[in-house]
This record gives sequence, C-alpha cells and structure tokens, in this order.
Amino acid sequence: MSFRLSPLWWPVLAAASPVLVPLLAARNRRFQANRARADRFNREKLDSAGPLDLPELESLSLTVLAEEAAEEGFLGESGVSYLFRTDRGALLFDVSYGPESRCLAHNLGRLGLSLGDIDALAVSHLHLDHMGGLKASRARAVQLPEGLGLPQGRPCFLPDEASSEGCRAEVVEGPRLLVAGMGSTGPLARSLFFLGWCQEQALVARLRGRGLAVFTGCGHPGLELILDMVGRLSGEPIYAVGGGLHFPITRGRGNRAGIQFQMILGTGKPPWQRITDRDLDRTIAALNRVKPKRVLLSAHDTCDHALARLAGEVEAETEVLRAGATYRL
Ligand SMILES: [Zn+2]
Ligand SMILES: [Zn+2]
Repeated sequence: MSFRLSPLWWPVLAAASPVLVPLLAARNRRFQANRARADRFNREKLDSAGPLDLPELESLSLTVLAEEAAEEGFLGESGVSYLFRTDRGALLFDVSYGPESRCLAHNLGRLGLSLGDIDALAVSHLHLDHMGGLKASRARAVQLPEGLGLPQGRPCFLPDEASSEGCRAEVVEGPRLLVAGMGSTGPLARSLFFLGWCQEQALVARLRGRGLAVFTGCGHPGLELILDMVGRLSGEPIYAVGGGLHFPITRGRGNRAGIQFQMILGTGKPPWQRITDRDLDRTIAALNRVKPKRVLLSAHDTCDHALARLAGEVEAETEVLRAGATYRL
C-alpha cells in the first residue's frame, strides 16, 4: 500500500493546515450537497429510462488508440481513446490527452489509420484523460491533435455542456442511439471531492446472437449504476463489459511530484478516505450478477492489484486492453 501523498509533502500540509482545514471543510459541504444532487439526478434518469431500440449488429470491433498498457511499438498513457467499428459505421470514444501527448497520433500512424471515415466522436466525461488534456478540460472544449484526418463538422456527443473544436457539440440528455448502431446510456452523475460535479455516459451495443456490450470511460458513476441503467434499456443478456472502472486501490497511474492524483481526485470520496477492496467487492459482485462472457479491463485508472482481483474473481474471460490491439466482439 503506497502513500497517496509522499511524506515529503507532510510538513507542507502541516504548515498550511490553518488555511487548508477551512478550505477542505467548505469543499466537503459542496461535495456532500453534490452527492445528494447526484442521487436525485441518477434516480430521475433511471426512472425516466425505457427500452432503447438498439439495432442488432453483425460485427463490432474495438481498436484501442490510447491506454495505459500498450502493444510492442505503441505508446501507452493513463488516458483512454477507443475506436469502435461496426457493420453500421465507426465511432471514436474519447481522445485521451489529445494534443498534449504524442500517443494518439503515434498509435494511429502505426496502425495506418486515419479518422477520415469515422461518423462521430463521443466523449465519456469531461476529464483531461478523456477529452484532450488539461487545456481542454480547463476550457471545457474537447481537443484532438491536428492532422488525424477527422472530418470537420461531425457530431461530438457529450455527457454535459461543453464545446468541441472542429466537431459539432451535441449534449446527450438521456439514453439514445448515437451512430454506427451504438447507443449511449445518457449521463449518470457522481460527486467528486476536488473535481466537482461529474456526468459520464457509457456506450452500449447489441450484438447478434450474443447480447449487449457496454463500454465505460472512467466509470465514475459506478458500474452497478451503469449496469442498472443498461438493464432498463434492454432485456438482453450482457455479453461484454469494457473500459475504466476507477480502482486505484494500491496505487494510481500517471503520478507526479509524489502525488497519486487518481487516488485523491476521482474517487467519489473525501480525500481522507481511500478506495478499498470492499468497494471492489461490490463491483465484482455486480459483474458476476450479470454474468458477462468477456470483460475488457482498462489499466488507465485501475491498479495492478485491482486488475488481478478482477481477473481472478470475475467469472468471465478477462483481458487488459492494450493500445494498438483490436478486439473483436
Ligand atoms: Zn479516466
Ligand atoms: Zn475521470
């Protein structure tokens, strides 16, 4: 178990405590208020959700453009970008750190792909590792690196109000079809202590003869809630679950200056509480209740300890997604 904040920081914290303590108390009041608001928001979204007319897809493949783990010759980073191709089109889900990193452009080049034929972009939630970097998240404007060939004016499906450079921003209010025969759960919310209010959408597809495939970005709302929503959209069995589940239990990814940001920022808990194995127990139980055949795990926001537990305890074929690889579902 590693420190979320290196001991080198502790004297700084102690010295700053007269200022820090009232600030954290004020944050905590907002965090608690947002928690109650998120419960109401999610209740309302669940109650108003009905069956979604998802077309039956003949084929669905996922090519991973950005992930923590990477195939030989590809770059990895603690962000997410997934390219989905179906018999009805192509959808790009998330753009990792966008222009702030070489990862996306390098991996696309290495795959010999351009984004010229994608039908749309969808962004899971407005965090820097999904919407194109720090500048993008500060400006609430999705950003892609230049030169990826993405046609101007394509829709960019967003889970909350934001803009999108080069694309036509469209806020998804509730469950609906997007493009390529894939649907969105619509936004579900989570109160985060430092990052504030967070709305996130997951993707859902219906595969002929197999059932549903569900893909998350960071999974901040919690997989139980996401699967609850998916159950209201379709009575079909869940065939596959993939993407981020946010379990930095023993360590975070992309740590800087002795700070494990993922263990502090995106947890849905106050900073004096950790994400624990008990939390993971609930997610593993939720997965085993819906009995997917395949689970495609993201290492971008989940530590090796949690990945090993998921692989060992979820009764499904589990794999860790790797940048550069294509998964046929
Ligand atoms: Zn993430
Ligand atoms: Zn996030």
